[in-house]
Amino acid sequence: IMEYSKIGSIEIIVGPMYAGKSEELIRRINRAQIAELKVLAFKPKIDQRYSSDCIASHNGKQTPCIPIETTDAMLEIIEKEEFDVLAIDEIQFFDEKIIEACQRVADQGKRVICSGLDMDFKAEPFKIVPAMMAIAEHVMKLTAICMVCKDPATRTQRLVNGQPAKYTDPIILVGAKEAYEARCRKCHEIVK
Ligand code: ADP
Ligand code: ZN
Repeated sequence: IMEYSKIGSIEIIVGPMYAGKSEELIRRINRAQIAELKVLAFKPKIDQRYSSDCIASHNGKQTPCIPIETTDAMLEIIEKEEFDVLAIDEIQFFDEKIIEACQRVADQGKRVICSGLDMDFKAEPFKIVPAMMAIAEHVMKLTAICMVCKDPATRTQRLVNGQPAKYTDPIILVGAKEAYEARCRKCHEIVK
């Protein structure tokens, strides 16, 4: 993959859950740090996945980051700090002001690297991510392994008590056992 450093740019890493998006983001952050670039890394505060102040991947890799709730909170921090690279994990959970914020940082000649889900569990485009993909200089779309047929998986299956989630299921189901797994187009199920 191209590594942009002399001019500002936006990179986005997308795909379903378990595709290795966080792993790839951590890899790029590490390489920037080896190049002695100052990285400011953020993630949304709602993601308490494995640790609260780290970008963490499902296979145990991690790197420190600042958990924030809004774009405004991020802007407040980046206006005070000197940095070369802005990294954002789970960008699908941010408000749409994050798009303009990334544009501004890239216009200042800095490198912006973000990662996030391109589709929700209904296989519909996830909020601001399609817009970020449109304005990015570089898009990397990763696949996971389909947990049914072992083909490349592009989608995230939501399971409620072991069964495919219904299209109309609320985002939070009280008392239900929730799980997510990677699936391909053929094996992904949405119960209408
Ligand atoms: P993402 O950020 O896209 O959710 P992570 O970077 O957190 O992905 O995790 C990627 C890792 O998840 C892989 O390197 C692998 O060890 C593990 N993994 C678990 N289930 C799967 C799967 N179905 N397909 C691919 N990798 C998987
Ligand atoms: Zn499949």
